[in-house]
Amino acid sequence: MDHQEVQTGCFGYLLARKARSKAPRNAQAAFRGDHPQMASRADVHQNPSPLGVAEKTDEIKYYSPCCCFSFGSESERWIEQEVPPSYSPTVISASTDDNSVATIVERTLDKESRKLRVLSLKIHDHPELMFNEKYAHDTLTNFMEQNGFKVIRRYLGLDTAWRAEYAQGKGGRVIGINSEMDALAGMGHACGHNLIAISGVGVAIALKAALEAQPNISAKIILLGTPAEEGGGGKVILLEGGAYEEMDACLMCHPSTGPPRSTNIGSSNAMQSIVVEYFGHSAHAGGAPWEGTNALDAAFIAYSGISMLRQQIKPDHRVHGVVEGKNWLPNVIPDYAKMHWLARAPTSSELIPFVKRVRNCLEAAAIATGCKIKITVENAYFDLHQNSVLAQGFADIVGSRYGLEATSDSTTASTDFGNVSYGPPYPFAALPALHPSFAIPTVPNGGNHTPAFATAARSEAAHTATITIAKGLALTAYRVLTDEGFFTRVKASFEQGKAADDKQHSRF
Ligand SMILES: [Zn+2]
Ligand SMILES: [Zn+2]
Repeated sequence: MDHQEVQTGCFGYLLARKARSKAPRNAQAAFRGDHPQMASRADVHQNPSPLGVAEKTDEIKYYSPCCCFSFGSESERWIEQEVPPSYSPTVISASTDDNSVATIVERTLDKESRKLRVLSLKIHDHPELMFNEKYAHDTLTNFMEQNGFKVIRRYLGLDTAWRAEYAQGKGGRVIGINSEMDALAGMGHACGHNLIAISGVGVAIALKAALEAQPNISAKIILLGTPAEEGGGGKVILLEGGAYEEMDACLMCHPSTGPPRSTNIGSSNAMQSIVVEYFGHSAHAGGAPWEGTNALDAAFIAYSGISMLRQQIKPDHRVHGVVEGKNWLPNVIPDYAKMHWLARAPTSSELIPFVKRVRNCLEAAAIATGCKIKITVENAYFDLHQNSVLAQGFADIVGSRYGLEATSDSTTASTDFGNVSYGPPYPFAALPALHPSFAIPTVPNGGNHTPAFATAARSEAAHTATITIAKGLALTAYRVLTDEGFFTRVKASFEQGKAADDKQHSRF
């Protein structure tokens, strides 16, 4: 192994968490193992072992579940039998300067709530996997067009990406919002992206109404329909294509488990998807097994190796995967096996050495069995950098107006929005960003990526919670567009983060 993480005695874990470093420049290349320059989405690398094969594959797309943003303890979670809390604004906010604007935003979302509910259920009833969100694409773009937005369909060469824009006046700041749309294979909307889709739409429409009431304000709203969050990194592709360049800040939200009336603005794990294929040689398993090279054995050795590695990793790291094969029979030595792994760590820089340790296990299995090996990786998802001023502004608004409690626990989930939020190590774009998760009611052990959560994501209570979060995001976005002092502090916080990133990179 070419890397040993520094241990600092009994408190090493705590110190490591406090001293989280950020990813180095060319971070994506570092995840891939050896390439010094940014590479394309799918890339195949020569195995350093003499048994490795170097082949270029077609661009691959595969499922990689990633975004469970559960927070709070299990005993505190919102169980579906509980009466949904009231979200009626009760307090005149001290953190929203213009109360009449807040009223417009809230009334607009309350008025549009039924239409948004219909949209949400339509998308929920038509679950679509990554890069195939055609129904959601058409439904949402039509809705935005009907609401006076300038729409670009099939944005930046992605069939299911889209952009909806509303501009008022000339110049002014630009706020970005994201709507996710994809579902999970076999489970439907078990991550609640139907709620994310309508939250983005609701924020954009409410903001437009607020701007129209203040015609002297120049500003622009850009809502992006972002495909393939559950794998495929739709936002990374859009980021690389320049979709975020015009924005001064970008916001979105994500449903999860958590206590009633709560939201979480903590970070998330960085994640690397790794697909490994083993190529052996088939033989009669009874007649001449010595003539075979067993690819399934390689997969089992890799699985065992990583299972043992798991005992030696930090509690906040994750590695998990599945085995796939074809034409397997008990009387034939399998000549092919494929595994899909996801490795996660709290920061991008911690993920790099961790991925190397996982790759060592995969390569060891090839050596042990004599199989050839091919490793394919996608762009990594970076950890989430929540802009502290945006986060505090959002927490103040949802706390004072709707009685929501905000926490800032980091989660071991991951999102491609992390790349949008990232600082200078990611060379394509980086901007102040906010990605709160929010609780919806479900059943015990029914969190994200379970059938129970798919049921939860179509409940009326989940819809009400989504509308409330959309109000908070819209009011936060309005401050970005119109409150000079607030935006100056948002930028200052962002620049501070960049400076800290640079310091870390120089040490990497
Ligand atoms: Zn999700
Ligand atoms: Zn998910």
